[in-house]
Amino acid sequence: MNIPVTRTHNSRLAAYDFSNIQFGPNPTDHLFTADYQDGEWQQAEVKPFGAFLISPLALCLHYGQTVFEGMKAFRLADGRVSIFRRDKHLIRINRSLERMCMPALPEELFYAALDALVGTDADWVSGLPGNALYLRPMVIAIEARLGVMEARQYKFLIVALPMANYYEGTVNVKVETEYTRAAKGGAGFAKCGGNYGGAFLPTRLARAAGFDQVLWTDGESHRYIEESGTMNVMFAINGTLITPPLNGTILDGVNRDSMLTLARDRGMTTEERPISYQELETAFKNGDTIEAFGVGTAAVLTQIREIDILGQRYFPATPPAGIAATLRDELNAIRTGRQPDRHGWNHVVVMAEKAEITE
Ligand SMILES: *Cc1c(COP(=O)(O)O)cnc(C)c1O
Repeated sequence: MNIPVTRTHNSRLAAYDFSNIQFGPNPTDHLFTADYQDGEWQQAEVKPFGAFLISPLALCLHYGQTVFEGMKAFRLADGRVSIFRRDKHLIRINRSLERMCMPALPEELFYAALDALVGTDADWVSGLPGNALYLRPMVIAIEARLGVMEARQYKFLIVALPMANYYEGTVNVKVETEYTRAAKGGAGFAKCGGNYGGAFLPTRLARAAGFDQVLWTDGESHRYIEESGTMNVMFAINGTLITPPLNGTILDGVNRDSMLTLARDRGMTTEERPISYQELETAFKNGDTIEAFGVGTAAVLTQIREIDILGQRYFPATPPAGIAATLRDELNAIRTGRQPDRHGWNHVVVMAEKAEITE
């Protein structure tokens, strides 16, 4: 698949400070876009980053047909650029799209789009330790036709932003027993905008009470732990790695799967099963060895130093070379090519031929 590239002649790259990355408002020079119309994806192209117009009637602004992904490209030790586990992200975005009644992205389009954008902005993938290029694919309903219904026109976009090591230390969390992130039969497994909008208020209240994040529990009994903020949650209890199962309310995290795989490779026992806060409380009271951490693409892994369970505080261990840190370091080594990629997780980006137009 050949995706036309229009290069900017106003690159911001030279002025960009990779030793002081301000993630969020600072994208790379280009973006990928494609339009869905008349039942097919068309007009795929890479062009200079910039705003675009949509109608106030565009359905994404009203009824929540918005889906996204979060993934990363890395500079390998040999200088090439690699995208981490693109196949898992493709499966997941298509599952999210299906849940929101939005058109699937063909594998060929998704892969070619990523290669075209990352290939064009490859110089934005810094080789500095801990740096990566964060990739945000998204699909939005743009049909201008007010009314509660499935749209017939969509836009697929990918933007890219440099990201630094995001080790912002450890967090203290509160077990949330009032608000619910996702219910059985809902859309908790989908990376759709509405899941995040509904999480802001409980998170704000938790912050006001002195916590960094909430530990979500199931919507039915509020006993079983589901996720930590916007990360999957894991516990290492007496050497066994435990994480809640994928039951429809939990996001099927790529890092969750990667950590489970690396733990099994090391011969660790892993368990994907419901874990209640009561079980956790008992383990703390027994004096068990407990590490607790969140895993996700943005921060990779965040250790939890304090868990509030109904007003009682417990303190997981956060050793610098414990289970969490060991898994994190191994994952980072694999995806930057400093350890063998034994599971075939790295896709080396095919650089586009330079038969491009310059704007
Ligand atoms: C994206 C996300 C995760 C982590 O998934 P990764 O694929 O590891 O980045 C976990 N929970 C929620 C709610 C998420 O949106």
